[in-house]
Amino acid sequence: MGNIKILPANLVNKIAAGEVIERPASVVKELVENSLDAGADHIHIEIENGGRDLILVRDNGCGMDPGDVQLAFLSHATSKLAAYSDLSSVATMGFRGEALASIGAVAQVTLTSRTPGSLEAFQAAVEGGAKPACSAAGAPEGTSVEVRNIFYNVPARRKFLKSRATESSYISETVTRIAAVHPQVSFHMLHNGRKTLSAPAVKSLRERLGALYGLELAQNLLESKEEGKGLAVRVIVAAPYYTRADRRMQLVFVNLRPVRDRIISRAIEDAFTGYIPPRRNPVAFVYLTVDPSMVDVNIHPTKAQVKFQNPAFVHSAVKAAIAGALASSPRLRQEMSVPGASGDSHSVGIIQAIDDFLRSSKAGSLRALPLQQDFLDRLKPRPAAPLDEQARAQIPEDIPEAKIMQVHNSYIVLEAPDGVTIIDQHALHERIIFEEISKRFRERTIESQRLLLPVTVEVSPREASILEEAAPALMLLGFAIKPGPGSAAFIVHSAPRVIEREDISECVHALLENFLAESKPDLANFTLSAMQTLACKAAVKAGQSLSREEIEMLLEMARRLDNVDTCPHGRPTTVFFPLAELEHRFKRR
Ligand code: ADP
Ligand code: MG
Repeated sequence: MGNIKILPANLVNKIAAGEVIERPASVVKELVENSLDAGADHIHIEIENGGRDLILVRDNGCGMDPGDVQLAFLSHATSKLAAYSDLSSVATMGFRGEALASIGAVAQVTLTSRTPGSLEAFQAAVEGGAKPACSAAGAPEGTSVEVRNIFYNVPARRKFLKSRATESSYISETVTRIAAVHPQVSFHMLHNGRKTLSAPAVKSLRERLGALYGLELAQNLLESKEEGKGLAVRVIVAAPYYTRADRRMQLVFVNLRPVRDRIISRAIEDAFTGYIPPRRNPVAFVYLTVDPSMVDVNIHPTKAQVKFQNPAFVHSAVKAAIAGALASSPRLRQEMSVPGASGDSHSVGIIQAIDDFLRSSKAGSLRALPLQQDFLDRLKPRPAAPLDEQARAQIPEDIPEAKIMQVHNSYIVLEAPDGVTIIDQHALHERIIFEEISKRFRERTIESQRLLLPVTVEVSPREASILEEAAPALMLLGFAIKPGPGSAAFIVHSAPRVIEREDISECVHALLENFLAESKPDLANFTLSAMQTLACKAAVKAGQSLSREEIEMLLEMARRLDNVDTCPHGRPTTVFFPLAELEHRFKRR
């Protein structure tokens, strides 16, 4: 037939390049991986126009001697793999010897390299897959690769590149992913001369994540490990109130290689179920170390995917590690009650938090009164103090608008069928809120709100010890309060939803003051007095003008409760003047 032809090498490379080099970010990935394989601990990247015009990667790695520089652009030229048996245990990023050949086939490339101790550098310039032009050159030790005009000879590819901003964001993402797993290597990147990434060498992954994603996140990271059956999992996750619309802050690494893996993504999702609102994504960094014989890293042209021998085991190990990280903070489990979290996981979190606390040795003398049923019973609505008939609250239904009014911005006057009702707006609202809080307390569904900016409260040493000892009660009430720097300050990270941010500090002080006035300073009394304080702080004040709707709402809430005659402190909320009494006073009868 004579139709079959062996394709010329430069065409083969151009075809192969289509698999390895999809866009500028692919070039960056391959070059940076080569630098890491070369043992570099300093990698410098420069990009122009989203990588279309220039991609430059410079490292301080082992360099290449002139012979290797000449060979490097040949297809399947690699120093990393000699025999097939090596493939099951590759520890380097590259091993196929394809990257430089592919890049050289679709761009204008200059590679300059100098090994430590040699007097000068050696340079190879390649264009469109042609034979490299080599020469001696002056350069520091290490290697730099300059890639210009990517796809200049593959117009179809060049045309399909996205905008500069988009290509540039792909590059940033690529470098970020690699940097997130090599804390001991410094990464710096310039785009059009502007610094876009700066990550100095550090000792820990956490510090590196801080440099990449910000200090605030770094301070709220939780960590855990799982190990077994040839697999070690290390997870670093953000506390669940950090969620994202996309999954860009979920990074997965297998043997230091950034990968995308459905099994692990699913494990992350499963582990966070119930902790975060629907349609939001958690922040999770998963570092897997797998026995190389248990994973195939060679199933994808850019090695972006891997295949596990036992996916179910990987799934359960990752899920367990994340669960462990989340469980490492009892405080956190309580805080999971951020708006949007499901009610169930919320109360489970609180109960566990208390249990943990009570089990932990930190609980001090206030612990003497555990949260037993009789204590919970005390929080049931107390029967109204035996007020006389005249003081019974009477809040009629459907009162015409003209028959309701607020007087002195403090009282609400209503016409009742057989008399006149006067309500103390603060006392009534306080009672309503107290009922709601104590009901939710018994059901363990008090809603807590995470504060974006924590509130600092200055306290005396005596007050500090109360706050510490009363931690279980405070948790139940929706507070997350931690000792601050120095003994005189506490920091409120979460507070019950009923309390406005600006009232938090005052509320904590009132809570302490009221408690110090208690005759029996046990946990139950602390809780009770704290609930009263919360209700008091959350209620409308005397002197506050209320709209018609607000008055209606207040009355409606009161009608739904049967125990609103007194405020939590026992004062009446309502005074009723029967018509008979009015008639008597006016001497009508
Ligand atoms: P691979 O990484 O799969 O071996 P590449 O085409 O990426 O293939 O690189 C070919 C070879 O060139 C590498 O095996 C390595 O020996 C050498 N090389 C490439 N980049 C560097 C670098 N930055 N420093 C030292 N050697 C390098
Ligand atoms: Mg390589």
